[in-house]
Amino acid sequence: MALFDQVYIDGAWQKADGDTRALINPDTETQDATLICASSSACAAAVASARAAFDAGWGRSDIATRRAALARIITEIEARADAFASCISTEIGAPIDFARTGQVAAGLAHLRATLAALETLTNDAPLTTAPDHRIRHEPLGVAALITPWNWPLNQVALKLGGAIAAGCTMVLKPSELSSRTAIILTEAIHAADLPPGVFNMITGAGDVGAALISNPDVDVVSFTGSTATGRFIAAEAAQSMTRTTLELGGKSANLLFSDCDLPTAITQGLAHCFRNAGQSCNAATRMLVARDIYNDALTLAAQIATQTEVNRPHLSGAHIGPQVSAAQFAKVQSFIETGVDQGARLVAGGPGRPDHLPRGFYSRPTVFADVRPDMTLFQDEIFGPVLTMTPFDSEEEAIELANATPYGLAGYIQTADAKRADRVAQALRVGMVQINGQSREAGAPFGGRGLSGYGREAGVWGIRAFQDIKSISGAAAF
Ligand code: ADP
Repeated sequence: MALFDQVYIDGAWQKADGDTRALINPDTETQDATLICASSSACAAAVASARAAFDAGWGRSDIATRRAALARIITEIEARADAFASCISTEIGAPIDFARTGQVAAGLAHLRATLAALETLTNDAPLTTAPDHRIRHEPLGVAALITPWNWPLNQVALKLGGAIAAGCTMVLKPSELSSRTAIILTEAIHAADLPPGVFNMITGAGDVGAALISNPDVDVVSFTGSTATGRFIAAEAAQSMTRTTLELGGKSANLLFSDCDLPTAITQGLAHCFRNAGQSCNAATRMLVARDIYNDALTLAAQIATQTEVNRPHLSGAHIGPQVSAAQFAKVQSFIETGVDQGARLVAGGPGRPDHLPRGFYSRPTVFADVRPDMTLFQDEIFGPVLTMTPFDSEEEAIELANATPYGLAGYIQTADAKRADRVAQALRVGMVQINGQSREAGAPFGGRGLSGYGREAGVWGIRAFQDIKSISGAAAF
């Protein structure tokens, strides 16, 4: 059985000697590898290495140096694209075609967008036309990157790209469930030949993450994960006023107005909700539908959900795979049961596995109708292939329903009326809006408000998140 027992500190691999964890394959439910986590001394050594590399010069590196480093990392990731896809497919159960064209492609697109943002970025410029007031964007220092398992390359790429471009050095602590992808990424970064200590990687679970953020040499924390852990990190970081970016959960609404192209809206809406087995923070999980098209929408949604194929990760095709772990599977099943208990109307799917998959953490693509704002299904992030549908009678009510959860990550609008689309887009309390299925540009800011967290990743915003602003007055020239 494969053993993953290495951490990467100061430009070299070292043997990990912390806790041992069994890695369970989500398709077979059996252990297929063992992970040895970083010990607390390895965690401290990784931060010390990042500190030393920052002070030794990376923090003062010029943009050309950072661009060249990032370009080399991209080349090394491209060279390993197939290895990444097959690893992501095995470790989180992503179907192989989606792993390649969705997961790996997204990570690379974000890195390329960060590289493009560096083309025009200035870190030192006059405040006005008067040259003696300058504004500088300086790297914050040592960054802790704590990432989840659901987009294992992409979530790291977003942080890694921003941190390198900003001039920070870093310690990555990937999710214990997706460390194998992080190990391939670390091999790619090693091959890209960065100065030792600029990038370090330690494996482990929440305790290792907690040790990392409480290290006084960490200057900035970039976290993606659950709202519960985000709260903990924000509270910890507050003790030392450590800068944080928190990209947390979501419960995003998809608003279907009467004049939308209904078959397209339903097809795309369900695909968006079910993609990655529903394990995306920005999934369009609450479909709000104008009452005069509600019944047609339900019929179509039931049909499409029933036709949505669930199958094994190694098979080629556009199906969805299993939940990542037994815990996630149990959580999704419990939400489905709660929905039934609370009286939501099941129109597709339901509890249990699909009939042809008696083994593995497979959920059935599920649609609930008549879901009210007071129901758990309407309010809580499920992180599984479960869509809720709710009717509305007016644009105002649609906006009110969309904004009626504590989250504020994304919003989706389907309408032929461009003025209405614009009005609603402005009224949604979210960080990102997509109209009529328009996909997001890789360099657009990613993040939200409310319980979805704060700060932004990607493009120029993702770089600025790792920098601080300094104003210098009285400097005649620079
Ligand atoms: P999920 O439930 O989706 O796995 P988590 O928020 O638990 O989301 O995990 C996201 C990342 O945060 C993982 O890398 C995990 O190991 C890490 N993590 C979990 N708990 C803590 C904690 N208390 N402090 C720091 N990192 C943590």
